[in-house]
Amino acid sequence: MRQTPKESSFCCRFCGGNEATEIITYKHIWLSCNNCRNIVRNLRDRFPLEFIPRWVQWLFGRFDSKNSLNPREIRSKLYYVLGHWEKGNIYDYYLDEDQSIRGGYNLSSKGTKWEGESEYVQDELNGWGVLLKDKKVIEISGGPGYFAKELSPVSRKWVVTEYSQVSAERMRNILGLEAIKFDFNSDDLSKIVDDTFDIVLLRHCINFCSDIRKFLGSIKRVIHKDTVIYCSFTQPTFASCLRWSVDDYTFPILYHPETIQKLFAEEGFIAFGKKEQGTRHWIYGGYWMTGGVHWGHVMTSPVTIPYYFLNRFKNIDVSTREKNLAMIFRKNPDARW
Ligand SMILES: [Zn+2]
Repeated sequence: MRQTPKESSFCCRFCGGNEATEIITYKHIWLSCNNCRNIVRNLRDRFPLEFIPRWVQWLFGRFDSKNSLNPREIRSKLYYVLGHWEKGNIYDYYLDEDQSIRGGYNLSSKGTKWEGESEYVQDELNGWGVLLKDKKVIEISGGPGYFAKELSPVSRKWVVTEYSQVSAERMRNILGLEAIKFDFNSDDLSKIVDDTFDIVLLRHCINFCSDIRKFLGSIKRVIHKDTVIYCSFTQPTFASCLRWSVDDYTFPILYHPETIQKLFAEEGFIAFGKKEQGTRHWIYGGYWMTGGVHWGHVMTSPVTIPYYFLNRFKNIDVSTREKNLAMIFRKNPDARW
């Protein structure tokens, strides 16, 4: 395979391998390690068609950045898909009073993309003999909070964290949850919560964690020897790279299950259960829980399908379906902490 300068200077942060395959999509270049198969995302400096929204703005005037993050009208959708957001604007997403993308002012998940998720995960936990009843639970990055709202009544205590202050405040004020601001890439959990928990829930947030071992190190100070850690995540597939390729800020790392298992093991945790959470087609597959057709992805497929053909003969798994996995860990009895 042709080696670009970036590939030839590659050194995998997970396995030390130095051969990677570039997966080129509209907004990102994803580096898939040929050895361990973890995929790391890099935002491109320039997007091929970003001149289009710029011309549209020049012709028809600007619209505010909040609208570009929660796009509702055609023009802002065009900007969202083809254009470049300024860094930092991601927080506008949380400042938008309407928050329709995060469930708005709904008091339950009914009718939102999170509907049914609490029952699904509860069934997974029960299948591994983990019951929420009378337990102390900490849920990391649990926004918009419906999951906590629906399951916390059976628990003894439920703390939910979110990396944005605004989102944590909304969970407190609208859903009445014990919600705190916590960013696992910069904050130390043990300095924020003063308690020990029986269950730690990491639902689809670990793909945003840049240093899992450091994060687990801070978790250790708020758990005890019988605590279980539930961790669900999106696996490294070409389908996921394509599916989220028009979002500027999507998951930075697609971890391979073996790497997750290894990083947890290095911190003294062993997996005692693993469960696939179904698959979704990268063009039309709906949300993980609600299924159906994701029309947003269908509409953006003219920008994603060409990249399928551009990459499909590379040294990667070109299956067309995104895959999620849930794993459950507990302390390795031999671990010393
Ligand atoms: Zn590697």
